[in-house]
Amino acid sequence: MHNISHDFSHSKPCDFSSSRWVLASNNKGKLAELQRLLTQAKLNVDIIPQGELNIEDAVEDGLSFVENAIIKARHASRISGLPAIADDSGLCVPILGNAPGIYSARYAGEHGNDAKNNAQLVKNLQPIRQANPDQAIIGQFVCVLALVRHADDPLPIIAQGIWEGEVLDSPRGVNGFGYDPLFWLPQQKLSAAELSAEQKNAISHRGQAIRTLIAQLK
Ligand code: IMP
Repeated sequence: MHNISHDFSHSKPCDFSSSRWVLASNNKGKLAELQRLLTQAKLNVDIIPQGELNIEDAVEDGLSFVENAIIKARHASRISGLPAIADDSGLCVPILGNAPGIYSARYAGEHGNDAKNNAQLVKNLQPIRQANPDQAIIGQFVCVLALVRHADDPLPIIAQGIWEGEVLDSPRGVNGFGYDPLFWLPQQKLSAAELSAEQKNAISHRGQAIRTLIAQLK
């Protein structure tokens, strides 16, 4: 048997009953949605966005949402010494081999430029639409949440949500963020950017993931 010993001196071991968690995100759209959802869940914790602790973004070099969520949570927890929760999310378009996927925030090259990312997606889908004008293009918003008790936690709590819709050929609506204006919901006959925050949270990938996470904590 291997005798593995961990040095936790750089990151205090803590559990989830700690009254403060760091939220490993600086994306304003995500932050607003996560904070709202966590507050609604009446968890007895204060959520501190990592920016308030001057924690820079982690290097996201995983190949999947789950890997990147864990990387971000560990990074925030290592620096703060607190439990940390991270969200890694994006839009997967199956006909594009699930692009933009984990590269959603920088699909057009510049991190966080929503207008350019949306234009890039519309452009990349143009030849596919022309070849099959009557066929809807499916898109899936994916959100993976990872919660770690401490930076080296071997058992992170993981929750995932997937929200399926169609990808529009031009933006609609002004609410939300990211690809919301291109995400069409055939049942509602609205884009995600035409939903209120409450409506979006009730059905979105992030709302689903938070509710799953909370169920695991309880
Ligand atoms: P991350 O911060 O690396 O997880 O990148 C998330 C990116 O995915 C965002 O910048 C958006 O482009 C996209 N995204 C994630 N969630 C949503 C959403 O709820 N609506 C629209 N775009 C989203």
